[in-house]
Amino acid sequence: MAHVVEIKDLHKSFGELEVLKGIDFTVDQGHVVCIIGPSGSGKSTLLRCVNLLEQPSKGTVRVGGVELTDPDVDIDAARRRLGMVFQSFNLFPHMTVLQNVMIAQRRVLKRGKGDAERIARENLEKVGVADKCDAFPPQLSGGQQQRVAIARALAMDPDLMLFDEPTSALDPELVGDVLSVMRKLARDGMTMLVVTHEMSFAREVADRVVFMDGGVVVEEGPPAQVIGAPRHERTRTFLKRVL
Ligand code: ADP
Ligand code: MG
Repeated sequence: MAHVVEIKDLHKSFGELEVLKGIDFTVDQGHVVCIIGPSGSGKSTLLRCVNLLEQPSKGTVRVGGVELTDPDVDIDAARRRLGMVFQSFNLFPHMTVLQNVMIAQRRVLKRGKGDAERIARENLEKVGVADKCDAFPPQLSGGQQQRVAIARALAMDPDLMLFDEPTSALDPELVGDVLSVMRKLARDGMTMLVVTHEMSFAREVADRVVFMDGGVVVEEGPPAQVIGAPRHERTRTFLKRVL
């Protein structure tokens, strides 16, 4: 089976601080991998190395067979294959929902207006906010805004979706809507790398769970093992705190 993501011996330092100390793992086509671990363990830095917002200090990152760490790689082309959803939604507040989902399609993929609008509407439908096309982001709830952000990423036809704590900024009653959209994406076969503290989501949806602490992968495996029967003391200590 093809690896969509292949990370080998990935290191990242900020000055003297070594944040990633040799990370290895893969994500297979159509799989969901959830990354869990305490705050400060390097989860966001890892995702930022996968989407090229950070330059790794050492090691390789391959996405869809393209080595992102190759100095000759076309970064914009490589980044186009990735959809990213962050804790903060980063929608343009002065543009309508529809315009927010169209703009990168128009500017980056050079889609015509008609195609971009049709694809935007399809994806807004998919995430359950089609009725908000003409609203402006500040008029929406956090959960609706995050679903618009997901639609915006999906409209770019990514090979891989990266999520960095997509529900952490949401009021508790809004978390479920975003998680159910993510569940649906997973069922539809989207390849996903998800940093999350939602253990029930990870347990239910992930094909594999990666537990990180202190810049290393402490253990990884199917959720029933890593969350259900962790082998390492550090994993058990973390789970006790979040479960
Ligand atoms: P997590 O997402 O697991 O909470 P992060 O990847 O955000 O962890 O951060 C890991 C460590 O790296 C933290 O100690 C953080 O302060 C440090 N760090 C992250 N980004 C930078 C940066 N741009 N410059 C310096 N230190 C950073
Ligand atoms: Mg983080």
